[in-house]
Amino acid sequence: MSTLEIRDLHVSVETKEGAKPILRGVDLTVASGETHAIMGPNGSGKSTLAYSIAGHPKYEITAGSVTLDGEDVLEMSVDERARAGMFLAMQYPVEVPGVSVSNFLRTAKTAISGEAPALRHWVKDVRAAMENLRMDSTFAERNVNEGFSGGEKKRHEILQMELLNPKFAILDETDSGLDVDALRVVSEGVNRVRATGEVGVLLITHYTRILRYIQPDFVHVFVDGKIAEEGGPELAERLEAEGYDRFLTTSV
Ligand code: ADP
Ligand code: MG
Ligand code: MG
Repeated sequence: MSTLEIRDLHVSVETKEGAKPILRGVDLTVASGETHAIMGPNGSGKSTLAYSIAGHPKYEITAGSVTLDGEDVLEMSVDERARAGMFLAMQYPVEVPGVSVSNFLRTAKTAISGEAPALRHWVKDVRAAMENLRMDSTFAERNVNEGFSGGEKKRHEILQMELLNPKFAILDETDSGLDVDALRVVSEGVNRVRATGEVGVLLITHYTRILRYIQPDFVHVFVDGKIAEEGGPELAERLEAEGYDRFLTTSV
């Protein structure tokens, strides 16, 4: 079993006016096999948490720690984080010009596992994963993110996650902009990964909709760069019914 531990994390973001504190003491422990939903109003710092764990250079860790089985994640390069078993799907994935999905996946798999996957198995695995996600086989020959629709980007994220076998997957707004069919397909992918019992999932979302398809084990509500409330799946149901209003009484 693996454990991802976030302790008293404080993060500032670089802005034109200088460093702006965003995260103000986040504590979170995720064990492999668990699914945690990170919810909260827009601007509460959810993506900042994802970017900080990913090692985005714009986000400065001013205090606290992130460890994976005791290893300091914040000291690792972005590549080292991936090799350590962290998978981070970003809210706005970039285009990779001239690189096909198929080559991209194989390169990523090779970088993470330290050796090229045996071609026969790999081709089969990719085909099966794409069929599961109802992706046309021609998708593998397209360039990464070039002209991808919103739904294709999200499917591509889930495809990567399924093929790369991470210990921890951080999915930021994987549900935003998806129609119901795509949401179902993407959720099935997350649930397949989850069913292995070996992956810890941090599902970051503003909306409660995806939580009808993916039942989280734990729910954490972010407000103003901190966790304001925690609970089980019933908390997501309460948020669906009530929204975030009761957390926002002090804001203007
Ligand atoms: P969420 O994902 O919960 O909507 P974010 O982490 O994106 O929240 O943003 C939290 C706060 O940090 C917001 O007030 C946002 O404006 C600010 N912020 C985040 N990233 C940047 C950035 N790169 N430059 C300036 N402000 C930022
Ligand atoms: Mg946002
Ligand atoms: Mg966000």
